[in-house]
Amino acid sequence: MKKYYYSIIKFPLFVSTSLFILALLFFISALLSYSRLGLSLQETVIYTILFILLVILVASWILNLIGTHSKITPRWMAKYAKWMLTFVYYNLAMFLSFITFRKKQTIQESFINFNNEIVLSQSKGIKHKNILLLVPHCLQSSECKVRVTTSIDNCESCGNCNIGDIKKMAEEFGVKAAVATGGSLARKIVDDNIPEVIVAVACHRDLTDGVRDAWRFPVYGVFNKRPKGPCFETTVSISNIEFAIRKFQ
Ligand code: SF4
Repeated sequence: MKKYYYSIIKFPLFVSTSLFILALLFFISALLSYSRLGLSLQETVIYTILFILLVILVASWILNLIGTHSKITPRWMAKYAKWMLTFVYYNLAMFLSFITFRKKQTIQESFINFNNEIVLSQSKGIKHKNILLLVPHCLQSSECKVRVTTSIDNCESCGNCNIGDIKKMAEEFGVKAAVATGGSLARKIVDDNIPEVIVAVACHRDLTDGVRDAWRFPVYGVFNKRPKGPCFETTVSISNIEFAIRKFQ
């Protein structure tokens, strides 16, 4: 639990630090310009615009922090907060992690966990039939000859990989489940189903790309495990998926 908490906190910590640095740079620069000769009209306009941008950045970040605990209304504001999170704060955190030599994967993991908190607090009372469980093809046993990408119902539940467990869980909860071989198929499945919430299983890179790509949808991310290396017979914690599905009710 403690580990999960630290994993969530890293991303907001990086974003907050980036915003603090930006604000500091702004005030130092404005103060230096002012103390030299005073501000010219042109400088006044530039600093005013920069100040407004800074206020918008900080206010939108606070909105995202609030979103981890309370539902944001109206809807357009929630969408705006999500856009800022996906395209502005994610890049800010990644830039800071790059210049401080942090592992990219650590921030991506924290971003997904932070996003999960927002998705959980924004998406309550969702009917199970409106939840799409999207899992990667690499979960399937390499020796299995069944085509689960056409339909997960083709799985014979032999117990050799997690696809059988996912099929069983989808039947039990009444959620839609699908297996995707890549981003294009995942996009098609989402477009065909138009779910209210997506519970997606993938590795750090694919999950981060997927969550950002489908930013208009609430995507709850679950990391898969790769005991045999990337993209080969991966596994997933079924209890983590079940936890998410139960929370959306
Ligand atoms: S559980 Fe399903 S997908 Fe996995 S190996 Fe068995 S039949 Fe194939």
